[in-house]
Amino acid sequence: MNTAPIIIVGAGHAGGRAALALREQGYAGQLLLIGDEPHLPYERPALSKQLLLDSQPADACHIGSAEQYQTLAIERLSATRVSAIAPAKRQITLHDGRTLPYHQLLLATGGRARQASLPGADLAGVQLLRTLDDAAALRPRLQAGQRLVVVGGGFIGLEVAASARQQGCQVTVLEAGDRLAARALPPLISAKLLALHRARGVEVRLGCQIAAFRGDGSVSAVELADGELLACDTVVVGIGIQPNTELAAAAGLAVGNGIRVDSRLQSSDAHIYAVGDACEFPCPVSGQPQRLETWRNAEEQGRHVARSLLGADDAYAALPWFWSDQFDHSLQLAGQLQAAANCVTRALPDDGLLLFYLDAAERLQGACGWGADNSIARDIKLAEMLIRSGKPLPAAALADPASSLKSLLKGVASV
Ligand code: FAD
Repeated sequence: MNTAPIIIVGAGHAGGRAALALREQGYAGQLLLIGDEPHLPYERPALSKQLLLDSQPADACHIGSAEQYQTLAIERLSATRVSAIAPAKRQITLHDGRTLPYHQLLLATGGRARQASLPGADLAGVQLLRTLDDAAALRPRLQAGQRLVVVGGGFIGLEVAASARQQGCQVTVLEAGDRLAARALPPLISAKLLALHRARGVEVRLGCQIAAFRGDGSVSAVELADGELLACDTVVVGIGIQPNTELAAAAGLAVGNGIRVDSRLQSSDAHIYAVGDACEFPCPVSGQPQRLETWRNAEEQGRHVARSLLGADDAYAALPWFWSDQFDHSLQLAGQLQAAANCVTRALPDDGLLLFYLDAAERLQGACGWGADNSIARDIKLAEMLIRSGKPLPAAALADPASSLKSLLKGVASV
């Protein structure tokens, strides 16, 4: 009988979900959830949307309540940083020097927002957005008439831009690349995003290089590489995240673009697992290592790893899925968009769009939907079912708005 606990490092989305799932799945032993933030575990998507729009209170993001963790005997150490792991001794060290033994360890350390390495990045008013505290610091700055510069035209930057614009701010987005969210999105959808933001009064500059943030104590302008000064009251830097892998690397675990795990989410040490934004796991389709920074990945891996920790040996095979809300529009992506042989476009009413990505055998690999209509969510759900069916699909029917995806699904179900 092992008396050492399962310890979870990182009390964010995946860590909180894994702790609750361990109890749901019958784990009755000692369970310790350690996080360096002062909060209950929480989901982050609302930080750039509802919390900046005042349409949801901060505690609606929480995963479980304090009472629930107590009732389930999940011991929480908050505002506590884990500073080292000794795999050979199966022991961790906390920031205050205390050591704790573990039976199994789960690393759910997420990522941190990347800071711009530019002069003036430490001025007051140059903000990052990763945590509830970041959102609480940013919200009061987004008053009507305030001038906001967003550095980075990826999802976080664009969501902040949309929220700030809806609060009446003057917003400028500066993107170094030649289109928005290029890392994740096809050019057609980048173009839709650009058109929407510009139509709603956001100034978007592409191919834009920044030289420095200027100000006396607090930021008052962004200086571009050509010397132009953009006056502003606040800057939000949204240039991606850095996965928190240092703890794992220092412990000698295999680390690539994330903490390397196998299909059960087990690391190179048999007693240590990793999940969420911090881990790099084999893509169920290609087998290639991938790291995802999405809500569903944190949610599903948190649940899956609880089963792995309790001895299950099935592979993590959830389909990648991501959404973003900007103004009154939604974007959803499911499956794999890269490496498709063919992309089929279906136009939707009100300038909406569905893109279907097929392999050489005409099987659906991925889908992307964009629009103001809430049918996007339903369509992408159906697309996910079509992907899972693995059956060839007629491209002409996918392209035809009059042909319902539900009927296509019935077609493949009866094949
Ligand atoms: P996190 O939730 O970041 O949790 C990791 C925790 O570990 C953190 O609390 C961290 O401080 C802690 N930690 C790290 N190191 C240590 C240590 N050594 N000791 C103790 N604690 C430690 N995804 C979508 O699919 N759709 C969206 O619309 C969307 N919107 C988003 C908006 C914002 C503003 C942000 C920031 C993210 C958004 N995401 C979205 C992404 C999604 O929230 C993340 O993928 C998810 O939170 C990852 O969960 P995680 O548990 O891996 O990491």
